[in-house]
Amino acid sequence: KTWHQTGLTSKILETIKKLNYEKPMPIQAQALPIIMSGRDCIGIAKTGSGKTLAFVLPMLRHIKDQPPVVAGDGPIGLIMAPTRELVQQIHSDIKKFTKALGIRCVPVYGGSGVAQQISELKRGTEIVVCTPGRMIDILCTSGGKISNLRRATYLVLDEADRMFDMGFEPQITRIVQNIRPDRQTVLFSATFPRQVEILARKVLNKPVEIQV
Ligand code: AMP
Repeated sequence: KTWHQTGLTSKILETIKKLNYEKPMPIQAQALPIIMSGRDCIGIAKTGSGKTLAFVLPMLRHIKDQPPVVAGDGPIGLIMAPTRELVQQIHSDIKKFTKALGIRCVPVYGGSGVAQQISELKRGTEIVVCTPGRMIDILCTSGGKISNLRRATYLVLDEADRMFDMGFEPQITRIVQNIRPDRQTVLFSATFPRQVEILARKVLNKPVEIQV
């Protein structure tokens, strides 16, 4: 499989070329056609497999099909991950693409830099990458004036098994309940224990399951 068979836009393909990613990794070759067709997807894959771009690239294309995000709008794409480190890692992978595409991405986690996160959220951003607990705080603070989920249509749960182990299930459920049901949802997990399967069944709509 080549990148040109994936249906990504030329701007995205140009960036991939600059990054010297010669061909899609197996998880990308499997996931891209499914996610780009609009289906929900469960990917069983570990860090290092290339899973991040498998959910990021279709998200970028999804966002380019939508009207621009302006101040006061919430994000179109929402990615939840278990730790601050993973949020930062995903954010840095996305940043390699956003400039050329005119898309913004704000990382949301506790600790330092919270004031800057808030001001960037208020200005409007197409993508938010967050830890679930911190995102709840943001959505509840000042009655939804910092950000909201009204425009969210592409949701990612990354490392779902770790989020579950860390006790984030109530926060995930609460956030998901506030995102329109006709959204597209993608879940990645290194393992697929029963509790994660139950969560997936609640959150995803007729998902296609893939494994590498
Ligand atoms: P991930 O599993 O998403 O953490 O990705 C592992 C590493 O592979 C990251 O450093 C990516 O930058 C890199 N990567 C992702 N896709 C490709 C690709 N198609 N070809 C080569 N490297 C890639």
